[in-house]
Amino acid sequence: MNTPISLSVVIPVYNEEQGLHALFSRLYPALDKLAIPYEIVFVNDGSRDKSAAILREQFQLRPDVTRVILFNGNFGQHMAIMAGFEHTRGQRVVTLDADLQNPPEEISKLLAKMDEGFDYIGSIRKQRNDSWWRHVASRAMNNFRERITRIKITDQGCMLRAYDRGIIDAINSCKEVNTFIPALAYTFARRPAEVVVEHEERAEGESKYSLYSLIRLNFDLMTGFSVVPLQWFSLTGMVVSLFSALFFVFLVVRRLIIGPEAEGMFTLFALVFFMIGIALFGIGLLGEYVGRIYQQVRHRPRYLVEAVLEDVKGEK
Ligand code: UDP
Ligand code: MG
Repeated sequence: MNTPISLSVVIPVYNEEQGLHALFSRLYPALDKLAIPYEIVFVNDGSRDKSAAILREQFQLRPDVTRVILFNGNFGQHMAIMAGFEHTRGQRVVTLDADLQNPPEEISKLLAKMDEGFDYIGSIRKQRNDSWWRHVASRAMNNFRERITRIKITDQGCMLRAYDRGIIDAINSCKEVNTFIPALAYTFARRPAEVVVEHEERAEGESKYSLYSLIRLNFDLMTGFSVVPLQWFSLTGMVVSLFSALFFVFLVVRRLIIGPEAEGMFTLFALVFFMIGIALFGIGLLGEYVGRIYQQVRHRPRYLVEAVLEDVKGEK
């Protein structure tokens, strides 16, 4: 039996060929400096560039501390992290993006905080270097999420996070599809804490998140962790039907006292359109939940692993 690994670092990689070498040249020294047994688990999320080949090369260079999981398609950042988690052996697990936006040197800061007895360490970007619309959008989503879930994450976009083994085991036992790892982990944490970390501009390549995939991700976050949107919708429905009932009574009384009316057609249209709008929104919202249920009950594999590169000597 080898010495138990105390730290696993999980890194999802999707089309990052330009930045990977820079990542290696900072990540390995930073971890070597910690002087603890560690492993790095790279998960190639079906990159269409040379990322997989670069990861293979790196595995040859440092097989003792490197493991590589190759997906055979693009299953998304959070599924990649899930797969990484299943292959970790460390007592603590840190997730990191491949683009060096979170400096690997900050990992020690998270571990130091864990030493104080916390089991989940989130991170807050000191000053965020992303495009302005990302700032605005994520502030709005943060506020909204705070209101509808019990999850308190100051900076939900920052993936540099550390988890204790217990949380990782709990996550591994979840069979959720399309989830949001930091939120899922938070629901299992007993003593969460946060630290402030540096944030750099993306060195190479570009963000893999389009506006559309960001919206999708946030829908997953909202509907995956809360039914409050549905409850709000039924409340809205209640209020609207209350008002239309009052309106109906008013019209009946008016008809009896003043007589029939033909004016006010367009007011009526406006009212009807408004209500149709609410109804459509509600159907869409219901669809989000039904869609989640549908994906879950199909029991399809959440991701497909093509190959796992690991040093078998290290096992058992
Ligand atoms: N990523 C992934 N699969 C995807 C999209 C992204 O594995 O479908 C990885 C990507 O390689 C990076 C991390 O997830 O390591 C975060 O992506 P990115 O930096 O593009 O997101 P942003 O920092 O813009 O939020
Ligand atoms: Mg990034």
